[in-house]
Amino acid sequence: MANGIDGYAVTGASACCDVEGVATYEARGVDRIEFARIAIIAVIASAVWFHLWEPFASFSLLGTVGTLAGGYPIFKGAIKSLAARRMTMDLSMTIAIVAALAIGEAFTALVIVGFVLAAEILEGLTVSRGRTVIGDLMRCLPARANLRRGGIVSEVDVASLHVGDVVVVAPGGLIPVDGSVVAGGSFVDEARITGESMPVEKTAGSLAFAGTINQTGWLEIRTERRGLDTSFGRIIEAVESADRTRAPIERLADRLAAYLVYFAFGAAVFTFLITRNVVATISVIIVAGACGVAAGTPLALLGAVGRAARAGAVVKGGRFLESLAAADVIIFDKTGTVTSGDARVAAIDPVSGVSVETLLAVAATAEVRSEHPIGRAIVAGARQADIAIIEPEAFDYRPGRGIRVRSAASTIVVGSAAYLCEEGVPAGEITRIEADDTAVFVARDGRFLGTICVADTIRSEAAAAIADLRSMGLRTTLLTGDVASVARNVAQALCVDEVFSGLLPDAKRAHVAQLVAAGSVVVMVGDGINDAPALVAANVGIAMGSGTDVARESADIVLLGNDLSHLVELVKIARTTKAVILQNFAATIAVDTVGIGLAAFGLLHPLLAAFIHVASELACLLNSTRMLAPPNRLGEATEKTRVASRPSHTVTSVVER
Ligand code: ADP
Ligand code: MG
Repeated sequence: MANGIDGYAVTGASACCDVEGVATYEARGVDRIEFARIAIIAVIASAVWFHLWEPFASFSLLGTVGTLAGGYPIFKGAIKSLAARRMTMDLSMTIAIVAALAIGEAFTALVIVGFVLAAEILEGLTVSRGRTVIGDLMRCLPARANLRRGGIVSEVDVASLHVGDVVVVAPGGLIPVDGSVVAGGSFVDEARITGESMPVEKTAGSLAFAGTINQTGWLEIRTERRGLDTSFGRIIEAVESADRTRAPIERLADRLAAYLVYFAFGAAVFTFLITRNVVATISVIIVAGACGVAAGTPLALLGAVGRAARAGAVVKGGRFLESLAAADVIIFDKTGTVTSGDARVAAIDPVSGVSVETLLAVAATAEVRSEHPIGRAIVAGARQADIAIIEPEAFDYRPGRGIRVRSAASTIVVGSAAYLCEEGVPAGEITRIEADDTAVFVARDGRFLGTICVADTIRSEAAAAIADLRSMGLRTTLLTGDVASVARNVAQALCVDEVFSGLLPDAKRAHVAQLVAAGSVVVMVGDGINDAPALVAANVGIAMGSGTDVARESADIVLLGNDLSHLVELVKIARTTKAVILQNFAATIAVDTVGIGLAAFGLLHPLLAAFIHVASELACLLNSTRMLAPPNRLGEATEKTRVASRPSHTVTSVVER
């Protein structure tokens, strides 16, 4: 209706800027003037119907004046559209209203005006409900915090906090920053950013996140990130930008809406030329609606992004949901993605003449700056054994291979067997072991020192999530830089369709790119620096929230809670969204075609035509608002499919490069 074909303007809501550019949305209450306008039109329409005051016999003065005054907002929109040379519903309805007046149908003109105004109010309400979901998200980032300086606690603006400032959060309070707990203890509800409904215990050293709710105890948190840099701020930013960028399906919707209007006008001209029936011609124009398509599409996408956010997934644009709905392959990285990433040292096997402590110390020096789960495990192992870790001097990380550092005038190389060979360690020296766990090889100054085995557990929900995705018709693939034996074990435990091992980062990217080039819609899920190129190459890149910054930046969607079952939910949300949009397309085309047909044959009174127009558009908008419902409803079928799709499967291919 008022929003026209070229775009979806924000009706019923206004954006204003808050601290640090965090936009907050206020749903505008329904304007009293709009209600009064409709009420007055109703009164005038009754007067016209009962011929209460008609000074002229040839035309209805009251009806004409009422239409022109009451329809002012519609005419204003129409003039704007005319100036912009854009066909909009305001314009088409204006033509219909003027035409109705011209043939002396003042009552019909009044009713059309009333319908359009009422529909605009309802449309504003549905759209602002969509906005409210996002507005609710925004309000969860508090603007004020209790800052502790020395022994004094004072309330300050979050924007004025610095990294390192300690904030105090009372029970029931919203946590204002991302940071680590320095004192106190409590349980925190993190559902908003992780989708996890169980409260999480926080003690000194735990990480706390802005926007989460402190429940039972007192917490003191050292600020690490604030405002839009926090995990929650990122969600808000993503949801906001998702709202600004247009998905291909939205452009398709705009084109379809434009075609529908042109089609209606063509049909009207045709009707008039053949029948010379003015009322039928006007009915043709009145009945054709396109707003269910033009405004319903972005509304559904907006609702879906909001719903995904509440399920712990930051979607950086509606178009990624569109691709996700069409996906046919989903590729997982192994370490840190299907495995938990909190690996630990399982075995230490030094060559003779080297002590366990030396081996661990040398490896830890190389890994001390590493973000990789393997590196973190080795460093943690060294700390546990009370080994003092020497900081390296120069550091060279080769994603998918390992690390080379310089320390105390020697060169340490830690990584895969292949990488050690590349670095000049004689292949014959490296003791190869066939283990279930990932083996990491350590050498110093070209001399092999031994092997450290790192055990990583498969995420508890991974197998069920993969079974669900397979039952939804997706092909599942595991890609890893690790060796075939380890990869095969994980693949078998997860029942993926296929597994490829020994892949360097560029080989992962090439694998994805090749599938994309062959016409598949590919989803890549990863966590590491080594996955970043593949995340970019995929149609939809999904990063684990615990992943490296590079992975999260490269990805289109971030799973904040690292919970793979949210992936299943996400695919369901994407598919439902697409279904809703297509339903709107189909319904609009059907109603318009049938309506125009009936009207052209003179079977539709302009009044009924107006009613059909408004009712069908509202039905589409309401259909779109289904996406705003809470997330759990889509997940109900999960339990059943899980049981059904589990057994009967073996890995079909293991390929080592
Ligand atoms: P995945 O593809 O499963 O996430 P990566 O590509 O990160 O695994 O790693 C592949 C292999 O490269 C590892 O199995 C290990 O041998 C070696 N590697 C990678 N990063 C490191 C590291 N920080 N320290 C030691 N070895 C590493
Ligand atoms: Mg990884």
